[in-house]
Amino acid sequence: MQRFISIRALETPASGIRKIFNKAVGLSGVIHLEIGEPDFDTPAIIKEEAWKSLQSGYTHYTHNAGLIELRQAIADYYKSVWEIEVSPEEVIVTVGGTGALFLSLLSTVDVGDEVLVPDPGYPPYTSMIKMIGAIPVYYSLKENTGFLPKADEIENEISEKTKAIIVNTPNNPTGIVYSKNVLKSIAELASNHNLVIISDEVYERLTFDGSKHYTMLKFKDIADKLVVVNSFSKTFAMTGWRIGFAVSKNAELIKNMTKLQEGVVACAPAMAQRAAIVGLKHGQEFVNGMVQEFQKRRDLLVRLLSELENTSFVIPQGAFYVLLNISNYTKDSYEFAERLLTAKKVGVAPGKAFGQSSEGYIRISFANSEENIVEGIRRVKEFLDKKE
Ligand code: PMP
Repeated sequence: MQRFISIRALETPASGIRKIFNKAVGLSGVIHLEIGEPDFDTPAIIKEEAWKSLQSGYTHYTHNAGLIELRQAIADYYKSVWEIEVSPEEVIVTVGGTGALFLSLLSTVDVGDEVLVPDPGYPPYTSMIKMIGAIPVYYSLKENTGFLPKADEIENEISEKTKAIIVNTPNNPTGIVYSKNVLKSIAELASNHNLVIISDEVYERLTFDGSKHYTMLKFKDIADKLVVVNSFSKTFAMTGWRIGFAVSKNAELIKNMTKLQEGVVACAPAMAQRAAIVGLKHGQEFVNGMVQEFQKRRDLLVRLLSELENTSFVIPQGAFYVLLNISNYTKDSYEFAERLLTAKKVGVAPGKAFGQSSEGYIRISFANSEENIVEGIRRVKEFLDKKE
């Protein structure tokens, strides 16, 4: 009989976080610490602009690369926030950072090429690479080295098939922010081996303790090899609006991503693009307030986690996650997350969902209220103490 489902679909793994989340939504009284999105509402000025733009006719397709006003606003934002000159031709607006990632891979990687992926790492990296018929090859991020990538270890994974490397800072799931020096070592490696660099910087504004994100766009000598993936999802609490973008000094790459976008989604939603402009222009105060709030929650979570016995973690300086080592309790993070959910009604993301290197860990999100964090970790403590 003819096979109905493609091998590509069959071989692409389902999200391990969703497995827990889907189970959790069926239960009442669950504290969701598995969540990967800000619990803040989108600022009212952004919502109002969406409404106004609907009324004034932004209900049609836009240019494949996005509204020129938005691309210009993104260029202005890079100038004012990161002190980098970007022109609108070096920007493509996409359906979320997800769309930017997918188009970056689709435009640079061929069937059979290898792509270097962080392990642990954001799970869709693997699925997207598999979807396009390429091969993910993992470089590990280990707790004993602060979850930082090591250029010499990454180099060991390079073969003649290696085409690209994905870098993610601030990092999901570790919460680690890479310094300029760490990023420089990766830029040099990519340069020596002529690799495309896909730098996922969607958490760029969510950094704590005064630590600042360093965008790879600052490395001028790799500019033609680099594409930066970014998004409005986290910065402006706009996950549901599905607006992201990519920036590359390689205008040819942006042109090709634009061409391919036509056949994937045509363009990002017009009214959401209009709203995003207001976020960039008038949303900076909101961002700063949200970061302050996240910092408080991070501090609280770190304090509570340090009271847990036989666990360890590296203090996150960015994003809104902590990767907690629970390997003294179990080697199976899926089973742990499921039992924790059933017994204590706390949702956490199993480490294994992010790769082999984070088996024996759980990812705890602090995109939740202080009250829920306190109650959630109280339950986790009870669960660990009783070894339920
Ligand atoms: N990259 C990373 C590391 C993420 O965590 C996410 C969202 N969870 C994305 C990209 C994509 O987000 P979006 O498509 O909502 O912009």
